Amino acid sequence: MLSEFGLIARYFQQPGLANAGPWSPQLGIGDDCAVMSVPEGYQLVVSMDTLVADVHFPAVASPELIGYRALAITVSDLAAMGAEPAWFTLGLTLPEANSDWLAGFAEGLQTLAQKVGISLIGGDTTRGPLTITLQVHGLVKKEKWLSRQCAKPGDDIWVTGTLGDAAAWLPYLQQGLEEKPTDENLRTLWNRYYFPTPRVVEAQKAVALGCRCAIDISDGLLADLGHILTMSQVGAQLDFSSLPASQALQQLLPELEKQQQIMLTGGDDYELCFTAPPHLAGDITHSLSPLCPVSRIGQIIETPGVFTTSGQPVSISQQGYQHFN
Ligand code: ADP
Ligand code: MG
Repeated sequence: MLSEFGLIARYFQQPGLANAGPWSPQLGIGDDCAVMSVPEGYQLVVSMDTLVADVHFPAVASPELIGYRALAITVSDLAAMGAEPAWFTLGLTLPEANSDWLAGFAEGLQTLAQKVGISLIGGDTTRGPLTITLQVHGLVKKEKWLSRQCAKPGDDIWVTGTLGDAAAWLPYLQQGLEEKPTDENLRTLWNRYYFPTPRVVEAQKAVALGCRCAIDISDGLLADLGHILTMSQVGAQLDFSSLPASQALQQLLPELEKQQQIMLTGGDDYELCFTAPPHLAGDITHSLSPLCPVSRIGQIIETPGVFTTSGQPVSISQQGYQHFN
């Protein structure tokens, strides 16, 4: 039987996870607290996510997928601030200490941790219904962060990657499909749901170019862009024809209206939505497109609300978006 301390040492204190990034803590896992130094000229950026089994992820999913996705989602908030990932803590509530599950979970965490350079510095382990809490710490150069409050009328609205893919996987998930699908298009959706890519590097490039406003798309474009609009006290005009659809989405949902609906309202993609003055358009394309697709999908306007290019108001309801016409 694995003790709590044995479990922590075996699965979480391993070098690949506890030293996954360039910002090593002065003191990591094993003491009462971790100790880190914020480098001169930087500020600390902190965020937390809690994921409850069968609410935020299927409990029966493979532990590697659960670990990878949990950390990716949490790191996505650092990306949305333009922060460089540095450290994270893990609050883990487990029904039982199952070695296979823990090994898989730690491996999933480690894969993403190494990808983005974030080190596990501590946590807490308790018994109870499977719940994962991750707190991430990132670094930004002084005053150089992205916020939801900084969109200005005239700014272009940009998104990274493609939209709607993760949401298009949900009906299959609800049917109980867990295995990696053999069909190529379905496999794309499955990958996009379980392996979201936090746009860490892309966001830092956007900051370097002078962008100041961003959010990550966890709840759907309209919902998350809506947060930018409310907090910046502006509106938006969206060009539906420039919404980025993957090949897989186009083939699985050939009807344009359905494609647009899922791209506007589907969550779980963890792409970045950011705004920038139009004179930066060339630099943004040049700097970001080698990393991932980047699309200009509309403009910030003074009038509150969201409108199509022909001036029709768009609203989001639980069923999806609706035109008021
Ligand atoms: P305390 O009783 O002082 O809170 P714990 O026994 O909870 O200490 O934890 C001992 C050490 O192990 C601490 O450094 C803590 O941060 C770390 N730790 C506990 N659980 C985890 C976990 N799930 N992942 C990483 N580190 C953990
Ligand atoms: Mg403790």
